[in-house]
Amino acid sequence: MRLGNLLDDLADVHNHFLALEKRYYRIYGKYAGRYRLQPHLTKLLQRTHKHWAWIPRDTLDEAIIRIHITYERFFEGLGGLPKFKRKDRYRSAKFKTGYKLDNGRARLSLKAWNASTQRLTFNKRWFSFHQHRDWNGEVRYIQILRDAVGTYWLYIVTDDATTEPYLATGESVGIDFGMDTYLTLNTGEKIQHPQPLKASLKQLRILNKAVSRKVKGSNNYWRAVRELARLYRKITNQRKDWHWKLATDLCRRFDLIATETLNLAGMKRLWGRKVSDLAFYQFVEILKYKCQKHKRELRQVGQWTATTKPCSDCGFHNQNLTLSDKQWTCPECGSHHDRDINAAINILRAACDPSVETI
Ligand SMILES: [Zn+2]
Repeated sequence: MRLGNLLDDLADVHNHFLALEKRYYRIYGKYAGRYRLQPHLTKLLQRTHKHWAWIPRDTLDEAIIRIHITYERFFEGLGGLPKFKRKDRYRSAKFKTGYKLDNGRARLSLKAWNASTQRLTFNKRWFSFHQHRDWNGEVRYIQILRDAVGTYWLYIVTDDATTEPYLATGESVGIDFGMDTYLTLNTGEKIQHPQPLKASLKQLRILNKAVSRKVKGSNNYWRAVRELARLYRKITNQRKDWHWKLATDLCRRFDLIATETLNLAGMKRLWGRKVSDLAFYQFVEILKYKCQKHKRELRQVGQWTATTKPCSDCGFHNQNLTLSDKQWTCPECGSHHDRDINAAINILRAACDPSVETI
C-alpha cells in the first residue's frame, strides 16, 4: 500500500460523486448534497465499489463533504464550482480514526483490497515522518497532503485552544483592501504586496520553456515539470509567510481590527483575475485565526455598507466617484481625500457604529 494509491482512489471517489451531483442537478434542478450522497456511498461500498472499502469511511466521507462545501461556497459567491480532478491533482486525505501517532511515526490502519479473492484484508502500516513541531492538546484528526512537487506532508490538527493574549494597546484600525495598494490603514499607512509571483516571472518563463521543449511523458519532461512545481511551491510559501507576518504585526499593534466583508465575485468583476494572486481570502482567514489566538477583535463590515463614496469628514455621498479616481475633493466641505484612506476611515467608523451590522 502506498499513500499515492490512497490519494488516487480518493480522486476516483471525488470524480464519481461529482458526476453524480451534476447528473442529479440536470434531472432535478438542484444539488443532492452530502446527506443524500453519504447513504448512497454506503450502498456502493456493499455492492459495486467494494474496492474502495479499504479506505476508512471517514476519509471517504470527507471527499463528499468537500464537494458539498465547495457548492455551498459557490452559492455564497466565495469560489468556483467543484471540478473533476486528475489523479495527480488530488492532494489530501483526512483521517479521523484508524491512525496512531508515535515518536515521529504515524500508523494508519488501512485494509488492503485483494483483487484475486475480492476481499479486504487487515493491514496496519507505519509511516515515518520528520517532525517539525511539537503539538499541544488532543489530536482531532490528521491529514496527509501530497504537494505538486510530490512531497508528502502530515498535518496534525489538535483542539488546542490555548490563547496567547497580547497586551492591550488601546488602538483600533480600519483596513481597506485594494488592487494597487494591498492594505490601506485609516492612519494613512499603505502596505504593498511583495508580489513574489512577479519577482519570479523570469524564472517561471525559463522553466515553462524547458517543459515545453521536452518530449511529453519522458523522464526529462517529468523532471522539468517537478522543477516548475517546486518554484510554484516557493512562491506560495513566500506569499503565505508574508501573510502570517502581516497578520501578526496588525494583531500586535491593534486591539480592534475592522475590515470589509470580502465580496470576491464583485472584486473579480472589478479587478479581473489578479484578485486570486493577491489571495485576500487566505489573508483574512489567517487574520481571523491570529485575532482569536491573541484575543483581538476582528469586525467585518457588511458589504452593503457604503465605505468608498461617503466623505469621511462630512458624510456627503460622492456619487460621481469612479474607479479611476485615486484622489478627490469633497464638493460639500472641500476636504481632499485619498480614496483608500477615506474608505479605511469609513470602515473603522462603521465597525464602531452599533447600528451597522458586523460579523
Ligand atoms: Zn465632505
